[in-house]
Amino acid sequence: MSVGKGTVLMKTKDKTILVAGGAGFLGSHLCERLVAEGARVVCLDNFLTGDRGNLVKLQRSSRFELVEADIVEPLPARLTKRKFDEIYNLACAASPPLYQADPEHTLMTSVLGTHHLLKLAHACGARFLLTSTSEVYGDPDVHPQVETYRGNVNCTGPRACYDEGKRAAETLCFDYDRLGRGLVRVARIFNTYGPRLSSEDGRVVSNVVSQALASEDITVFGDGSQTRSFCYVADTVDGLIRLMAHDGPQPGPVNIGNPVERTIRELVDVVLTLTGSSSEVVFRPLPIDDPRRRKPDIGKAERLLEWSPQTTLEQGLRATIAWFETEAAKKPFAGTKDDDIRLTA
Ligand code: UDP
Repeated sequence: MSVGKGTVLMKTKDKTILVAGGAGFLGSHLCERLVAEGARVVCLDNFLTGDRGNLVKLQRSSRFELVEADIVEPLPARLTKRKFDEIYNLACAASPPLYQADPEHTLMTSVLGTHHLLKLAHACGARFLLTSTSEVYGDPDVHPQVETYRGNVNCTGPRACYDEGKRAAETLCFDYDRLGRGLVRVARIFNTYGPRLSSEDGRVVSNVVSQALASEDITVFGDGSQTRSFCYVADTVDGLIRLMAHDGPQPGPVNIGNPVERTIRELVDVVLTLTGSSSEVVFRPLPIDDPRRRKPDIGKAERLLEWSPQTTLEQGLRATIAWFETEAAKKPFAGTKDDDIRLTA
């Protein structure tokens, strides 16, 4: 990850950067990296899925500030009167059971929230980065997913509040850019994991690791043959910073993900091996519209950003498991499998 890092460092130091969703899993790692590189960081979060515990280290820094607000609402004067060099929008619940719990709010977070932040970026001349998602490809018929693929999203299904929200947010971003109202960058993030995923989050890595460590049954939805490509959080953060720093003509959306594709059964086997757990695997119904396959084509990120993930699944899971072990000692796993609100077929 050393290639080009100096350039990125110079570009981040001494900037004032707003990170919407900065108290979340990915957002807090991004804030830490930006503060470490010398930026002044303002974190904006409504704590719907963000966690104050993620900010403990950050709040020791004089270059870190927290603003509690919901981007669905007009932004507070405390933000609109400020000048930012860069704005990252990571604000949205990203776990299917959590974003499906209040679908209207999820959709509005991406659409109204992105609009509010774009207006702020326009007003103060900030560069804007939207964290979009591999979900814009829906249940893909093109494999691996390349940015030119237009996707296969069911706009009336239970995942649509997230998928269509992000698609509309991308549209807003590219319209702003085309209309000359600001310089935008759009990252399409594929399944990211690492320390600070909440054990109650409901995503597969946090569920499987929590269940393995608690010697509980491991819940595999469907037969586990569906695939995902898991990217370690430090790699994702590095990709986002590089994309924000990328100069030159509008590159369009850029996939940020790890191209190593695994079945859910394979993921479970790796976790069982690394934890030495004797948990049993149990099979549950596959949620509606659960994508069958997902794997990013990262050729564009490699060419434009000189970026590719550096962390193997085994290395990343070791770090994640170690973190969950420490957290489990503080707070017992409450379990997510029986109250998972995902709609099943
Ligand atoms: N999944 C699973 N067990 C769980 C949680 C998820 O088998 O306890 C499956 C889910 O059905 C999907 C994959 O793991 O096929 C990834 O799910 P996740 O919620 O992490 O993210 P997604 O990529 O679906 O948004």
